[in-house]
Amino acid sequence: MTAAGTSGFQELGEGCFAYLQGDGGWGWSNAGLIVGDGQSLLVDTLFDLELTAAMLDSMASVTSAAPIDTVVNTHANGDHCYGNGEVTRRRPAVEIVASEATAREMVEVPPSLLAGLNNAPGEVGELFRGFFGDFHFDGIELVPPTRTFTDRLQLDVAGRRVELIEVGPAHTAGDTIVHLPDCATVYTGDILFIGGTPIVWAGPLSNWIAACDLMLALEVRTVVPGHGPVTDAAGIVAVRDYLSFVDAEATVRHDAGMDAFDAARDIGRAIGADERFSSLGEFGRIAVNVDAVYRSLDPGYTSPNVVEQFRRMAELEQA
Ligand SMILES: [Zn+2]
Repeated sequence: MTAAGTSGFQELGEGCFAYLQGDGGWGWSNAGLIVGDGQSLLVDTLFDLELTAAMLDSMASVTSAAPIDTVVNTHANGDHCYGNGEVTRRRPAVEIVASEATAREMVEVPPSLLAGLNNAPGEVGELFRGFFGDFHFDGIELVPPTRTFTDRLQLDVAGRRVELIEVGPAHTAGDTIVHLPDCATVYTGDILFIGGTPIVWAGPLSNWIAACDLMLALEVRTVVPGHGPVTDAAGIVAVRDYLSFVDAEATVRHDAGMDAFDAARDIGRAIGADERFSSLGEFGRIAVNVDAVYRSLDPGYTSPNVVEQFRRMAELEQA
């Protein structure tokens, strides 16, 4: 599961660091650390308190001299914010920053909800443990943002300029990317999955494609995705290509009157035969992605509930 050299705390150069978790499959998210003189900013926490504690311990060689004063949550998915409480336990005065839309969305899927799904009896528990069984959600109290913004916010980390740019709704309702002009680096949150399939919980896809174009225009050298290995502009282009392909293919099938899940199966076969996309992990996410296209084309279209969406993803990957 975990390839050598792609896990753990690593310096990218000029006081920019990444914390990577293996192949970036379900829940195995990345985080970032931006270090100024005597002060640090953490980009995202991890899916549970134990993982976040291990990450913070691994950063101690740097953060002992430059403690974390600020956390940015790129979006509301638990694998980027459920660990907030471990940071505030160690640093009670830490400021937690997120977009307004992210702050609103965080309360919609609390850790207790995922704990309940993981602990559910029968088929539902089995299904969710297949996705999230490695993580420990019981007893996590989500610590919400203390400061919110819309559109853009500039932060100062001991003299370093950090630009937060809201690019959602795309992956979720309120995605934020974190841009460091002084070291030509961007932390993208789940606007990029590298080696895995992007999942469009919110959309529209056109917004996410626009976010890719915006990132390319930043002309950064180093790109830290929300999942998977560190990349560069080529990684941004690959995600944009996947989203453009799915948007076009799903639109054709929608206009022909095809059922959304049938369209996902059909496009899934095309993806499997396309060398640009066939090696991407979590291939079943096409079901959720096609559904997002159908929603954007028809405001009256209702998506299946979250349990059914996970059932469909599991079914596609078992086929
Ligand atoms: Zn994630």
